[in-house]
Formats: sequence, structure tokens, C-alpha cells
Amino acid sequence: MIITRPIDIDRFWKHVPEDQGGCWLWRSSKMRTGYGTLCIWSEGRPKNVYAHRIMWELTNGCTAPKGQYICHYCDNPQCVRPDHLFLGTPTDNIKDCWTKGRHPGCGGGWGKSGIPGVVWDKMRQKWIAMIHSPVTKYLGIFKNVEDARAAVERYKNA
Ligand SMILES: [Zn+2]
Repeated sequence: MIITRPIDIDRFWKHVPEDQGGCWLWRSSKMRTGYGTLCIWSEGRPKNVYAHRIMWELTNGCTAPKGQYICHYCDNPQCVRPDHLFLGTPTDNIKDCWTKGRHPGCGGGWGKSGIPGVVWDKMRQKWIAMIHSPVTKYLGIFKNVEDARAAVERYKNA
């Protein structure tokens, strides 16, 4: 578990709102990407941890496996409601968001790049290349928008 000190667990729950039927919007600090965070004592030092990740671990009783993302069904990065969270691979996360016309961490689809199939991953500050039809296919993550465009073109012309 990433959160171990009882005092941190108390601090965590103080920032979780009452259930009013919809998303539970984290009431403390947020990242620029909209994800809620909490500074906790972990492995001997203070550490900023995603609030939804803490919630997932507290409600599932274990740490999320390495390389797996905690994704939001509701697409609301600030939300910490346990039944809005699910575990997935980075590809699942992207696919899931893709089907809703979004990508991890922010809205907008491929609006930012202007290139169909190329979306901005705000969380990782990278470009994601993907093909939407006939099936969603994830082509990779690129630092450079031109490389992402090239990957989409290569796939289309293959
Ligand atoms: Zn939610």
C-alpha cells in the first residue's frame, strides 16, 4: 500500500466529499492535469500521490500492479469515487477514453494536433498515435507530433 500512516488516511478522507449521487470531487490539491493529489509520508519521505490512486488502494486493499493505470469511467480526473475507478493498461485507458472522444487527463480528442489519429497526452506530455477504424489500434507514443503523424500515415498506407 502506498498510504500506510493512519494520520494520512484520516487526512485523505477529510478531502473526500459526501456522496451526493454523482462524482466525488477531490477537495484538496490538484495537478495541472486535473488529477487530485495528496502529499503523504511514503517509504521514508513525503510524496505527492494521486488521490484516485489512494482511493483505489484503500478500497481494494492492495497496490495497483506496476504498469497498470487507475482509469475513470466518468472521465473526471478529479473524481475519487471508488465505483468510478477501474484498473487498466495504458492502452485500455486510451481506448476507453477514445471511445468517449477523449484522451487521458484532458478533453479535446485530436483537436490540439489538428491531425486525425494524433492526440495530445497531457499527462505524459507526449503525442499518441492511433487509428480509429475499423478498430481502434494504438500505434505508440511520440515526443514529436510529426513522428506521430508519420506513424498514422504509415499504418494507413500499409
Ligand atoms: Zn466520477
